[in-house]
Amino acid sequence: MTGQEVQLKRRWMGRLDYDADLLMQLTQFCIDHAITLGRVEAIGAVKKARIGYYDQQDRSYSYMDLERPLEILALKGNISLKDDQPFVHAHITLSDEHGSAFGGHLAEGTVVFAGEFILDQYTGPSLTRTPDTSTGLSLWGRSI
Ligand code: ZN
Repeated sequence: MTGQEVQLKRRWMGRLDYDADLLMQLTQFCIDHAITLGRVEAIGAVKKARIGYYDQQDRSYSYMDLERPLEILALKGNISLKDDQPFVHAHITLSDEHGSAFGGHLAEGTVVFAGEFILDQYTGPSLTRTPDTSTGLSLWGRSI
């Protein structure tokens, strides 16, 4: 395990836009405010969702489309750099009208009904995602 110390620079609280793509909206917020290191959380509801599951054997994501309104019980994610751009990696837990939960890796294609977020920007050495041969994923570099 490796890690680095970071310091809170700024914190935002805000509302997600109706009908916007959840992941794209969070990423655009980071681009607009030059946030390259941080964390994000959100609660709310979506009109539909697309979540991924990483198959460790195949080393590829499979996606599940949930084409119905769902509550966002929890979205948790981090912000770092990938290809020199802010990159939001987030996981989401959703629930239906029966309280059944679904979850996974947040993918583009998840459409906001309403939502509230809290986003922290940190200062510290940058974390950059690079290809990792052990997992096939883009992970933070070993230099940290
Ligand atoms: Zn993930």
